Amino acid sequence: MKKQWNVAIYARVSTDKKEQQESIPAQIDSLKLWLTSKKKHDKINIYKLIDIYEDQGSSGSSFQRDGFIRMREDIEEGLVNMVLTRDLSRFSRNYIMAGYYLEEYFELKRVRFVSVLDNVDTIEDYNDIIPFKNILNEMYIKDCSRRTKDGLKQRMLRGSCIASKAPYGYRLKTIYVDRLKHVELVVACDGTEKVVKEIFRLYLCGFGFQKIADYLNSKEINTPSNSKDKLWSNSTIRYILTNPKYSGVMAQHRWSKVNYKIDKVVEVPKEHWIIGEKYQGIIDKKTYDKVQTTIKSRKKTYRHKGIIHLFSSVLFCGECNSPMYYRQKYKGYKCKNSQSFSGLCTAHSIKEEVLLSGLKEKLKESVDNNVFFKLNKKNMSIEEINSVLLFENLSRQDIEQIVDKIIVHEEKNSNKKTVDIFLKFIIV
Ligand SMILES: [Zn+2]
Repeated sequence: MKKQWNVAIYARVSTDKKEQQESIPAQIDSLKLWLTSKKKHDKINIYKLIDIYEDQGSSGSSFQRDGFIRMREDIEEGLVNMVLTRDLSRFSRNYIMAGYYLEEYFELKRVRFVSVLDNVDTIEDYNDIIPFKNILNEMYIKDCSRRTKDGLKQRMLRGSCIASKAPYGYRLKTIYVDRLKHVELVVACDGTEKVVKEIFRLYLCGFGFQKIADYLNSKEINTPSNSKDKLWSNSTIRYILTNPKYSGVMAQHRWSKVNYKIDKVVEVPKEHWIIGEKYQGIIDKKTYDKVQTTIKSRKKTYRHKGIIHLFSSVLFCGECNSPMYYRQKYKGYKCKNSQSFSGLCTAHSIKEEVLLSGLKEKLKESVDNNVFFKLNKKNMSIEEINSVLLFENLSRQDIEQIVDKIIVHEEKNSNKKTVDIFLKFIIV
């Protein structure tokens, strides 16, 4: 009996200029040609083109692409059992993920994978060249990322603003110094600078981040993104109040990508910021500094009053499986059943600081191992993601997003406690 191959054609161009030489229509045409010729010459198989999946402008190092996701859904549905692509670099530049798809996922789903230019067809003997080519692809993107970074660093060292958009309240002004492009920040003078001043003033009057946001929303003041349906938020206010650029200091490289594989940023320690020349800021240095110390001192009191019950919804007793609840006096959590005097469970408890440091360690380890967390909420701004990743600012909501559950075990005799943390992460 003839075997029927239900074919998915996968085509992609990235934002990478080098790759754009072959457009998506050209890739699709050549893959269709390949398929026609295969149909003609292969007498023992039947080929049926199911659909064409394409991704434009997404970087090859990330597997989160719409066309790719749609194709994977069709594989899951059993509609597709063969994937046809031009070359492996179209497919992925991330060795770990490509390896996963080629060596595990496709094999598991019994999907045949053909990469025309690489001469790879998994129906034949498993090709030794695949892992090697994948590594080359990965080295290529790593190199691109390093070269872009070097260029940006040179510009930052010259004190030129590298942002594509000026911070709210400023505008960008390009001048040329010794024929080198230099981008300065100048006060916008369109009213937005007044809003910035108002934000700093309100904060020193005792308003919190959220209260300032609510106030600006009630006045229907346009947000930095300038879109009507967007509202001011807690994190936007925080971002403005802590941005040194408002005090006339060109501080850059304050956030950095974890690595070229993950679209995730972490805060750079202050000593590694790149500071350019001073310029006319919207806020004077004294006010700015006062706001920074106020933020620090308010955070301390907030921590004692506000951020309790961080783990209430994810924490369980290892003996009776019941939730563990926060006890103010203990500064930690105790098993619900041991508290109700029901005799259902013996006293189990865990300090909140132990949980926090355990989670911190686990998160660090996971990021090191390139685990992707389910943090990619739609409409989440970069500031919001930053504040989530800054461990100190993890809210209960953040924890619920990252943590599946935490189980506390306590040895009966020795009182020795172990904490099992289960995180929610995604493979693709
Ligand atoms: Zn218990």
